[in-house]
Order: sequence, then C-alpha cells, then structure tokens
Amino acid sequence: MTIPVPVNALDRHISPLAEKLSEAAAAVIRSGHYVLGPNVKAFEKEFAEWCGVADCITVANGTEALELGLRSLGIDRGKTVAVVANAAMYGTTAVLACEATPVFIDVDPVTFTIDPRAIEAVASKGGLDAVIVTHLYGKLADMEAIMALSAKYGFAVFEDCAQAHGARDASGRKAGSFGNAASFSFYPTKNLGALGDGGAVVTNDPLTANTLRKLRQYGWAAKYRNELRGGRNSRLDEIQAAFLRVMLPLLDGWNTRRREIANRYSREIHNERVCVPPTSGTDFVAHLYVIRTEHRSDLQEHLSKASVSSEVHYPLPDYRQPLFGDRFASISLPITEACCASVMTLPCFPELSDDEVSRVIEACNQW
Ligand SMILES: *Cc1c(COP(=O)(O)O)cnc(C)c1O
Repeated sequence: MTIPVPVNALDRHISPLAEKLSEAAAAVIRSGHYVLGPNVKAFEKEFAEWCGVADCITVANGTEALELGLRSLGIDRGKTVAVVANAAMYGTTAVLACEATPVFIDVDPVTFTIDPRAIEAVASKGGLDAVIVTHLYGKLADMEAIMALSAKYGFAVFEDCAQAHGARDASGRKAGSFGNAASFSFYPTKNLGALGDGGAVVTNDPLTANTLRKLRQYGWAAKYRNELRGGRNSRLDEIQAAFLRVMLPLLDGWNTRRREIANRYSREIHNERVCVPPTSGTDFVAHLYVIRTEHRSDLQEHLSKASVSSEVHYPLPDYRQPLFGDRFASISLPITEACCASVMTLPCFPELSDDEVSRVIEACNQW
C-alpha cells in the first residue's frame, strides 16, 4: 500500500531538531525564568531584526496579536475596519473583539489578497479607520498601492502576517514592515512555528509598542494599575521563545524549499480543469499552495484514490458564517465567493520529498 502524501507533517519537521530543542528546554527549566524572561527578550530582538522593524512584542497567539495590535492602533467601539472575507474569520474576529465594525472587501482573483481598488471604493466614501491586510497563503499583498491609499485617505494599515513570515518585495522589504503594525502567529504549522501557541506584533512606532506591552499584561500602566481597556494576560512562554530561537535561523531555508515546491507545481501541473497560481519570487513564502477548480470534490476524490491528501482553505466567506445569522445577508463579494467555492490546497511543506511532489503532480495531471 502506498503511504499517502500528507498536507502537512510536523513530525518530519520537528524530529531533526529534537536534540537542539531538548537542550533549549532543559536550559529554560534550569534557569528559573518561565514568563517574560531572557529568551522572550532575545527572541523579540532577533525577530524584529529579521523582519526589518524597530520592535517586536510577543503575545500568546496570532489571534490575540491581531486583536491587541488593532487596539494598540486605537481601534475600539465605533471604529470601522476593512477586512477580507476569504481568510477564515481571523481578521473579522479581531475587529469584533475590539467592538468595531467590519467592512468586507473583495480580493484579487489571482493573488487571493485584498484588492486595492475595492479598498478605494470604500475609503473614498469616508469613515474608514483601518484596513487589515492578510498576506494570504504566504503571498505579499500589493503594499505599494495600499500604502498610497493609506496616505491619501488617512486610514491605518495593519498587516496579518500569520502565513507570510519572510515574504518580501523586490527591494527586500519584508511582510510586517509596511503598515503601522503587523501580527504573526507561531502556531506549529505556520512557516515559523513553536511547539504550542505563540504570536507577536511588530511595529516601527514606539508608542504602539509601549501600548502593546501594557495590553499583554492586564492593561497595566504599572503594577496593579489598570489603564487600558482590552488588556489581558497574553504572553509568550520562555520555553516557546527558546524553541523559536532555535528555529529562526532555519526559516529562510524552509521558505526557499516551500517556494521551490510551489514553483514546481505551477510549472508542471497541466490540466485544463485546474488553475494553478503563477510561479513566484520572494514575495511568496508558500505557506499554502492553493489551486482553483470548478470540480473540487471530484478532484479531491481522485487525489485521495491516488494517495494524495488535500484540503480547502477556506470554504465559507466570513459574512456567511452561521454566527452572524442574517446580519450580512445583503453582502455579496463575487471574487471572494468564487474563491471559496473553488480553492483547494495541495501538500506543500519543506520536508516533502521530490518523489512526493512528483506523485502530486502526476495525480493532478492524470485527472
Ligand atoms: C493562523 C492564523 C491566525 C491565527 O493565529 P493563531 O496563533 O492560531 O491564533 C490569524 N491569521 C491568519 C491568516 C492565520 O493563518
């Protein structure tokens, strides 16, 4: 029996590092520092440098990085925040957690990221306080156009980089360094992942950084002095920071391998019923390799018989999620809906072998 090609395989990713990670854990255990200690401090410095930004504030996970990041930019009750609806509710959830109002924006059909023309259509009417830019699947959104609109209309830009650690433009500028602030997740399956939950916000603005350091510790201005609404306990553990410090130097290599696999798929999958993304340069770190097909369940079944796993990221637009009832019933974004109905994820992770990549390509071509 053939062993199926998985969509992800964390055991393969982590086991080569087992010894180094064990040593890092043992050093933390011996140190007596378990929360906001020297490893968190060092990782924040190293990750900020790696992203090309002034500061990094680690938090408990990517979801809180998004919410606290928005709060640090002054997003609160009564504010309006533009967000895409094809990115699994992460941005929308953060907007709602801030008690702000989401405005759903359509995406570009090729890059799957927010469409600057659609932002302008909303911003030009006035009243837009911020835009969340999700660099979906690891693809850097059109930051040049978005920052130009931000300058023109005065809204804040918040980048969700949970899938895009290290994606960079032609000049080498990295995801997270364009907007007013940006969030990352270190969930284990992300391009840089801990052995548990973790997240961070990066920013070049010292006031924003200062606010975030308060928000992640109960909203304290000083001990037992609660100053900020939305504050809570949201911290990265020392042991996770120590693991991330072991992995950060390996991230560029992992991203290169992901992109190599993605570009092989884009060059070698030839099937008139499958639409593959164009080959990419460094603006894509291939967190997920996503194709489109009008016959998704048929292809998934075919691949499954050929021992190739696949997934759907993501099937339902945010404004159609059951929790909303009919609150957004009148909203319809054509590209978002077409994407949700046709996207399909193929296996793409650094430890995938060339043979496995060939098997995926063959299975798609034989369909
Ligand atoms: C994973 C993810 C998040 C949330 O991160 P968690 O650490 O799981 O809370 C947010 N945004 C995007 C785009 C993600 O992929």
